[in-house]
Amino acid sequence: MQRLDARDAAVRVPAPGARPLSAGEAEVARQMQICNACRYCEGYCAVFPAMTRRLEFGKADINYLANLCHNCGACLHACQYAPPHDFAVNVPQAMAKVRVQTYSEYAWPAALGALYRRNGLTIALALAAGLALFLLLAIAINGNLPRAPMAGNFYRVFPHNLMVSMFAPIFLFALLALGLGVRRFWKDVSPAAPAGNAPGAALAEAAQDALRLKYLDGGHGQGCNEADDEFTLWRRRFHHFTFYGFLLCFASTSVATLYHYLFGWIAPYGLTSLPVLLGTAGGVGLLIGPAGLLWLNLGRHPLHGDAAQKPMDRGFIALLFLTSASGIALLAWRDSGAMALLLALHLGVIMAFFLTLPYGKFAHGIYRSAALLKWAIEKRQPSRLQLGSE
Ligand code: SF4
Ligand code: SF4
Repeated sequence: MQRLDARDAAVRVPAPGARPLSAGEAEVARQMQICNACRYCEGYCAVFPAMTRRLEFGKADINYLANLCHNCGACLHACQYAPPHDFAVNVPQAMAKVRVQTYSEYAWPAALGALYRRNGLTIALALAAGLALFLLLAIAINGNLPRAPMAGNFYRVFPHNLMVSMFAPIFLFALLALGLGVRRFWKDVSPAAPAGNAPGAALAEAAQDALRLKYLDGGHGQGCNEADDEFTLWRRRFHHFTFYGFLLCFASTSVATLYHYLFGWIAPYGLTSLPVLLGTAGGVGLLIGPAGLLWLNLGRHPLHGDAAQKPMDRGFIALLFLTSASGIALLAWRDSGAMALLLALHLGVIMAFFLTLPYGKFAHGIYRSAALLKWAIEKRQPSRLQLGSE
């Protein structure tokens, strides 16, 4: 590690014509200049080798690096310039503050992104409760509440076509908003490299790094740092429970859709059918993962990550947990008189989940995958700095 002095920590004047930086982005730029002089953490993750390919850090570079950082904490715990040192280098925290800005800056529509960023937990819970109540009232007005058991037949509460007409627009909206958001992000951080031209090897590497959450291993395989310097792999494990639980639930819905439209097999399906088995396994993953992430979030040290982001993180975690808990309750009591009530609750939570999907922590997975792809492409190309010196 090089000895650095105050000149390394000074904020540089942006190049003429450069887009102005927010306070958070300027702080990342300042810290990256220190790190670029030090370079002790080069082996920890992709952020540092990506950083060494740059001498100046514009807005797009900073947004790219911020989404490449997985907030494992390794560089903070290794850094001799971390607080209380005057340089106050805390790369994961500075990156987290910028990362959360990117969710609303690139979001479509941007106003919804900003609203969710400020009030994530309240919006998530209020939306879920409001939608569940609305569905409950609709059931009650039709005289279906309470009523005798219906052998798990959801379509006697909400006919299939009505369910499709409620969910299709919400699902398409979420897809469109996410797609436009990540397109904006990619065009900004990687204007010269369309994702469609990514070589197969880069695509495969980025997919593998995203699916394995490679950079949550701290660069040495032992995981993220706890506040007391110990290592833990639980953050990575809980992310995996959450991610693969979500994928299994999605697979369950997709298989059920195929059953319905391709084979004419109408729900409800038996307990040992593929949609129910996939949904149950995914639901258990989505209980364990979000509960674990909430536990870690509650105990997080103030120097780790961005405390202002917690309401948004918790809003997403709460919706994931409620989606799974209400789904499992619905399965357990689908043959009882409580089925209609549980169905309204479950559908309300799922609707709220999809409506908020493009603006919070789900979007971070998409932007991070895009950043990993950019890195996988970039590292295969000669550095602009080397080209410039030839
Ligand atoms: S985080 Fe600290 S130790 Fe690591 S490269 Fe930056 S200044 Fe050096
Ligand atoms: S916190 Fe981890 S992932 Fe983020 S820059 Fe530091 S070492 Fe890399």
